[in-house]
Amino acid sequence: MSLKVYNTLTRKKEIFKPIKDKNVKMFVCGPTVYDYSHLGHAKTYIQFDIIARYFRFKNYKLFYLENITDIDDKIINRASKEKISWEKVRDTYEKCFLEDMKMLHVNSVDKYARATNYIDNIISQVKRLIEKGYAYKISDGWYFDLSKDEDYGKLAKRKDLKENDSVSRIDENKEKRNFGDFCLWKFSKPGEPVWKTDIGDGRPGWHIEDTAITEKEFGPQYDLHGGGIDLIFPHHEAEIAQMESISGKKPLVKYWFHTGFLNINKNKMSKSLGNFKTIRDLLKIYKPEVIRYLVISNHYRKPLDFSDDVLENAKNSYNRLKNICSELEEEGKINEKYIEEFEKEMDDDFNTPNALQVLWKLVRDKKASGKYKTIKKIDEVFGLKLLEKEEIAVPDDILEIVRLRDVARAKKDWKESDALREVLKKEGYAVDDTPEGTKVKLLDK
Ligand SMILES: [Zn+2]
Repeated sequence: MSLKVYNTLTRKKEIFKPIKDKNVKMFVCGPTVYDYSHLGHAKTYIQFDIIARYFRFKNYKLFYLENITDIDDKIINRASKEKISWEKVRDTYEKCFLEDMKMLHVNSVDKYARATNYIDNIISQVKRLIEKGYAYKISDGWYFDLSKDEDYGKLAKRKDLKENDSVSRIDENKEKRNFGDFCLWKFSKPGEPVWKTDIGDGRPGWHIEDTAITEKEFGPQYDLHGGGIDLIFPHHEAEIAQMESISGKKPLVKYWFHTGFLNINKNKMSKSLGNFKTIRDLLKIYKPEVIRYLVISNHYRKPLDFSDDVLENAKNSYNRLKNICSELEEEGKINEKYIEEFEKEMDDDFNTPNALQVLWKLVRDKKASGKYKTIKKIDEVFGLKLLEKEEIAVPDDILEIVRLRDVARAKKDWKESDALREVLKKEGYAVDDTPEGTKVKLLDK
């Protein structure tokens, strides 16, 4: 079966064929590390994690590269506000981001590339753009001249900004030749981070980080670039303009993937609306698998309408699925019929909501054999830890209540035994009376 993917560049579903054999070079725009990561990050990076896992499931040799924007106005502003160094801001929130990703089982990334480790490559790209006549200098830096690039707008199918586009203040300057011209190299003001170079002492623009990183790691052309839908314009358009102007090779990227918006109670998530949810806060209430389950239940290209109800529903469905799966014993061989059905859905532009329905059909199918091994295989893609037995450390005082309850049960004192069950419940534990004895579980989060 062949994998079909929706390519933003052509606005079509196409049969996926890497540039070289089964090798897939994939780059995804990473976070700007100036604050805790939020639900929007969780959505985007779980979605690309599943896409990456599925390439590996299909036996592609995938290399997944993600950048970390560690030099940016937002980082500099936070540092000056808190009177600490920008490196300290970067180190703090980069560490938090990587911890959050680990918690969410986003483990498919091969390399996280910090922009500031590629300054030489960035300067080399700016110099080549200057030599070829694409870059010009004004009071605060070097800019890309869009009038020199006839192709500009070919990804977004437009050349003008729209309301939901992600923009950076670094690209603003009234002296620019064309309104949309963007900054390649910004001269640093006193107190700002600075790299001393013969094109002026400064720091990189936003878009040039990515092309410098991908040129160094992948070369001038590669298979796949992903990111949130808000990055298509101007960010990804600018990447194409830079790299194709430098190399003369087209296209920079064969397939462009973009994930849909995240809405909270039908509104855009933003700090000013007070509906900003950090991954950390969510993980205090919900298991990471519940967040993954919610993301999987939605198609990556569609907007995800988030609300407490939606999350509660995901929690209940996940817990039901997990409970059924945790009772399964290993038997038989992988059920090829169900794997085929799963692949059929995933091959259709990573249709995870339908693929999840295949999984539900399998667990409910009383006649299906090899359930355990089949679920294990499917969960390599979903990362829901469906078959993992949760080992919990039960404190001694709880074990003592369980023992007293066992004594009450042995005496058929149901009133006492029920009262003790309630005590356990208040402490966050549940008990199952099984033929092998009493089992203690944590109440579902
Ligand atoms: Zn980017």
